[in-house]
Amino acid sequence: MDEKVLKIVTPIIALLTVVFFATFRFMPTIHERYALVVEKREKLFESWDAYTVVQENLDEILVEAEGKDTQLNIEIPADVGEDSLSIENDYLTQSVYVRFPGGADDYFSDYGISGSSDHIKSLFYYKDGDDGVIELNLDHVYEIRTEVTEGNVAMEFIDPHELYDKIVVVDAGHGSRAAGATKKGIMEKEINLQIALQLKKIFDESEENIKVYYTRTEDTNPTFKQRVDLANLSDADLFISIHNNSSQSGNFTSLSGTQVLYSQSDDSEYSSKRLAQICLDNVTDATGSNKRGLMKGDDIYIIRSSEVPVALIEVGFMTNREELDNLISEEYQCKVAQGIYNAVLTAFEEGY
Ligand SMILES: [Zn+2]
Repeated sequence: MDEKVLKIVTPIIALLTVVFFATFRFMPTIHERYALVVEKREKLFESWDAYTVVQENLDEILVEAEGKDTQLNIEIPADVGEDSLSIENDYLTQSVYVRFPGGADDYFSDYGISGSSDHIKSLFYYKDGDDGVIELNLDHVYEIRTEVTEGNVAMEFIDPHELYDKIVVVDAGHGSRAAGATKKGIMEKEINLQIALQLKKIFDESEENIKVYYTRTEDTNPTFKQRVDLANLSDADLFISIHNNSSQSGNFTSLSGTQVLYSQSDDSEYSSKRLAQICLDNVTDATGSNKRGLMKGDDIYIIRSSEVPVALIEVGFMTNREELDNLISEEYQCKVAQGIYNAVLTAFEEGY
């Protein structure tokens, strides 16, 4: 080792050693710490045993439904009306939350759930303040149909394909602390989201019977797995991810235009590659942007893990001055959204 390096490293090691022993001096002994861990775990298991029901023993918890043929009947306090009850279906995590005031400490000793355990991976009851919350984790993306009567919530899980002609999952790339590419203080996550929200406006007004699930409609950052799971577990007909590009160096260059990534391992009839081409054609037609072409995308987790036709659209280059000005304008974002919407309709016309 170089003498200079030693001069720097030796005092650091000495300091770390002092800090280590000083810290250890005030920490519980190993034995004490072990006891703490055991106690914590026991507490944890005690509460979780009471409130957690996994699929295997769900049937033991579910009492037989008398004269009811709904999938699930959740008993709630009789005085809970529809106004004070909240039922939330979180498609992204395939979780349903039934929340009601006046939750008992031990729900299962006072109330019960009857019906079938089909489609339910796990079930929890917990208290959140004075509210009782029943949390159901489902094995698939379902629409739920509920009927609230005195002391009871009846619930059905419905495959979205029974309700809609087509299912599309739209993913606005990045979000929250993951900004994506940034240029002049402008963050890719924000442009991606604005385009997705313009697209949502178009779908919301569309006459087509297409259901769209969004991985995000706010500044959140779902995991890559959650994003692709939303597409796979809803058996989406199309999975479209919206991103924007940057030059390798991150510096402004003359590079511009739209490119679309696809899964090269997808050799199905309605392939990811063909979908990517449809997206490229429609987005460049709508925006007039430079048609850069298609790119193999299996290096990207959400592309290679998608079990449904996937296209990841790199709308434009944030590192091109002119294109950056376009990308942040609402007018241009609307054009991009219209292009993606046209691509979706074209794909469905082709049989996707
Ligand atoms: Zn991106």
